[in-house]
Amino acid sequence: DSSDSLAPILQRVIRQDIQGLHAYAVQPSAGLVKLDTMENPHRLPEALQRELGERLGRVAINRYPAERGDDLKAALAAHAGMPEGCGLVLGNGSDELITLLSMACAKPGAVFMSPLPSFVMYGLSAQLQGVGFVGVPLTADFELDEPAMLAAIAQHKPALLYLSYPNNPTANLWDDAAIERCIDAMAQVQGLVVMDEAYQPFASRDSMDRLRRHPHVLVMRTMSKFGLAGVRIGYLIGRTALTDEIDKLRPPFNISVLNAEAGLFALEHVDEYARQAASIREQRQRLYAALQALPGVQPWPSEANMVLARFPDAAKTFAALKARGILIKNVSALHPLLANCLRLTVGTPDETGQLIAALAECL
Ligand code: PMP
Repeated sequence: DSSDSLAPILQRVIRQDIQGLHAYAVQPSAGLVKLDTMENPHRLPEALQRELGERLGRVAINRYPAERGDDLKAALAAHAGMPEGCGLVLGNGSDELITLLSMACAKPGAVFMSPLPSFVMYGLSAQLQGVGFVGVPLTADFELDEPAMLAAIAQHKPALLYLSYPNNPTANLWDDAAIERCIDAMAQVQGLVVMDEAYQPFASRDSMDRLRRHPHVLVMRTMSKFGLAGVRIGYLIGRTALTDEIDKLRPPFNISVLNAEAGLFALEHVDEYARQAASIREQRQRLYAALQALPGVQPWPSEANMVLARFPDAAKTFAALKARGILIKNVSALHPLLANCLRLTVGTPDETGQLIAALAECL
């Protein structure tokens, strides 16, 4: 059949390393309480939904995106408190920005680095660009292993160091003095540091000030965890000399007019999103306390909208929760440090209640 004749063509033209990969897998979630991907569980109140619908209905979708993207950039810069002398690049989610950064820095022989376990796209994007990736294991309590980080930076001279702050999936903020020393070490080897602040809406600290002090630091954020995961808007802030280079790689119309309008609408209603984030932080505390009270379960303190916890038998608990209609993420296989660990996204008060009740039943 036709796929038989296609096989030799694919074999010849598709890169060998791509042929060996699997596409990014999303867990099927239909009919389940979805607590697996750190989404904001809250919809907009109905009146705002209607208002958004009317706004989107008036957008000129016959035109390519134009100035509305600039309006969104200005609104995001104001929202984030972007310092003087910096620029902002929009991405179709921060995933796209990771790809653009990787493309920009993928010189032959280049190495990218991040602590491990961390967000999987850092390593994957290095692999896709055909450059090296060095992962430096965290300590057993998920802190930066500063001596190991400094040694690896000096040895490999990475072009890019990704620091997820807070970290996915461990949900913590690393020690700031250790981060500063890693940033200084990266200056020594003339590399860039990307502070990935996807979970900033739930964290007690951020890196805007680092951006002022260090010209080789970039801050990456997203509207996904804020409450617009489905819209796909990420942004990268850094000195304009840097963001101008990244912008050259950006596909011309990567933010649709509908995305831009929805993003602007959300930023006009930050009070609503602040209320949602406050509820999530409250439920995070409730979930953490409930996990702590369960026999044999060890949760780690969280600065994000997820809680990581170690269970006596993670696979069994994952399956038992799923049988009760709750989908979480089993991260046990991602890294040896995560043995028997589950990552639980913080949901609505009602979902958190369901999760706590189900956990009590299955443990
Ligand atoms: N950075 C981190 C640390 C993440 O955990 C994620 C998604 N889970 C992303 C970036 C990508 O988010 P998005 O593409 O939705 O902006």
